[in-house]
Amino acid sequence: MSARVPENNFYRKLRETLDLHWLYETTKKYYGSEGQPSIDPVVFFKLILIGYFENLGSDRRIINQVTLRMDLLYFIGYDIDEPLPWHSTLSRTRQLYGQEVFKQLFRDVLKQCIEKGMVAGARQAIDSVQIKANASLDTLKEKEILEDGELYAVNLKEEDEQQPDDDDCSANKWSNKTHYSSTDPDSRIATKPGKTTDLKYLGQVSVDTASHVITEVQIHHADRRDSQCLEKMVAGVTENLQAEGLIVEQVLSDSGYSSTDALQCLQDNDITGYIPNHGRYKTERKGFTYDKENDCYVCGQGVQLRYTGIHVGNDGQPRKEYRSSARDCRNCPLRKQCIGKSSQKRIRELVNRHLFDNMHKRMQTKYGRTMMKLRQSTVEPVLGTLVNYLGMRRINTRGIEQADKGLLMAATAYNLKKLLKFQAPKVNVIIKAMEKAHQILNANLYLLFRVLGSLNRTNGKLVDQF
Ligand code: SF4
Repeated sequence: MSARVPENNFYRKLRETLDLHWLYETTKKYYGSEGQPSIDPVVFFKLILIGYFENLGSDRRIINQVTLRMDLLYFIGYDIDEPLPWHSTLSRTRQLYGQEVFKQLFRDVLKQCIEKGMVAGARQAIDSVQIKANASLDTLKEKEILEDGELYAVNLKEEDEQQPDDDDCSANKWSNKTHYSSTDPDSRIATKPGKTTDLKYLGQVSVDTASHVITEVQIHHADRRDSQCLEKMVAGVTENLQAEGLIVEQVLSDSGYSSTDALQCLQDNDITGYIPNHGRYKTERKGFTYDKENDCYVCGQGVQLRYTGIHVGNDGQPRKEYRSSARDCRNCPLRKQCIGKSSQKRIRELVNRHLFDNMHKRMQTKYGRTMMKLRQSTVEPVLGTLVNYLGMRRINTRGIEQADKGLLMAATAYNLKKLLKFQAPKVNVIIKAMEKAHQILNANLYLLFRVLGSLNRTNGKLVDQF
C-alpha cells in the first residue's frame, strides 16, 4: 500500500504526523472484556476526520469513499481486501465516547501547533456561526403549559430576554417560547437578516491571530446572544492556552459581544477587549448633563432626573433608569420636543457605563481600528472554511453534546491542515527573508566601502578617525 501512495500525498503526511496511540488508554473505560470486538478507536477517529477533510455529510458516505481510495485505506491502516467497519458502527461509537475524548484530541493537535510556533496566544479573535441542526421545522411541536403557571411565566420571561433582536420568528406562527423540535429538542428556531429561519445551533470559535489556528470551539443554543457566550469562551481559550504556558492578553470581537457582563468578564481576567459598543450606546445625551456627585441627570432647564432603579430590557442588558417629575416638566417650553405626549422625561443608562466609555475611546484609536480589520481577516475566513469545506454547514447528529463533538472534530481537522501546510512555506519565507537581508547588507557594505574609498583618496586622516 505504501508503495502506491505518493510521497507528497496529504494522508501519507498526516499518518506520519498524527500519533493517536494515547486513545487506547483514554477509551479503555468504554469497552468491556466480552462480546464482539469493537472498532479500533484510532481507526474510528481517522474515519471521522476523513469525513471532515472530504466534506462528507454522512457516515455511509465516509465508508463508501474509503472503499474507493487507496490513500484513505493507507491512512487508516487497512489492507485493500480488509473489510471496513459498518457505517452504523461510527454513529454508535460517536455516541459512546464522551465529549472529553474529542476535546482531548482537539487539545493534542493544538499542542502540536503551539510546539511548532504557530500560536502566539496573546491575541484571540472570537466570532460565531449559526449551524443548521439535523431537524426540520416540520418536527416543531407546541410546548405543554406547565401545571405551575408561575414557573411557566418565569420560563417565558427568561426566553424572552435571551431572544436576539434579529430573531424574526414573530413573523412565523412558531417561536422558541412556545415550540420545540420533537426530533432534536436542543436545537432552536433562529435566523439572521438575509437568511432563512431554521432549527440551528450556535457555534463559537476563537482563532489565534498569529497563524490563524483555532484555539477553542463551543456549541451553544442558537437563541443565546454572542455576548452571553463570551465568558465561557474566554474561560475555555484561557484554559487551553494556559496548559501550554501561553497567556491571553487581547480579545477581538464584533459588537454582538458587547454587554456589561462581557466587558466586566474581560476586565476581571486582565484581558484588553477590542469590541465595538452595541448600537444602543450613546456617547452623550444631547441637552442633558450627568451630575456624578448626586447620580442624576440635569436638563437644560435645570430640572433633575433622579435615579429610580435598575431596568432589564428585552436585550437582557441591565440599565439604570432616571426620571424627571411630571410637575417639573408640566410648564416647560421645550416639553413637546423633549417628551412629546409623555408626562415625564426618562433616561435609561447602561450599568457600568465607564466600561463602554473606555471601550469607545480604545476603538477610536488607530490601533483599535487596526484590530478590527485584523479580527475580520482572522476569524471570518476560518468560519467560511469550517462551513464550506469542513462539513459545518449542517450538524449530522442530534443533541447539543453530539453537535459539540462535531464542531470539535471540524476544528481539529482545520488545525491539522494548518499544521501540515505550515512547515514548507514558513521555511521558504525565512530563507527568502535571510536572502533579502543578505542582499541589503552586501549592497550597504559595498556603498560603505565606496564612500570610505573616496574619503581615503581625499583625506586619509579622516578615514582613520572614522
Ligand atoms: S420637558 Fe422636562 S426634562 Fe425636558 S427639558 Fe423640559 S423640564 Fe427638562
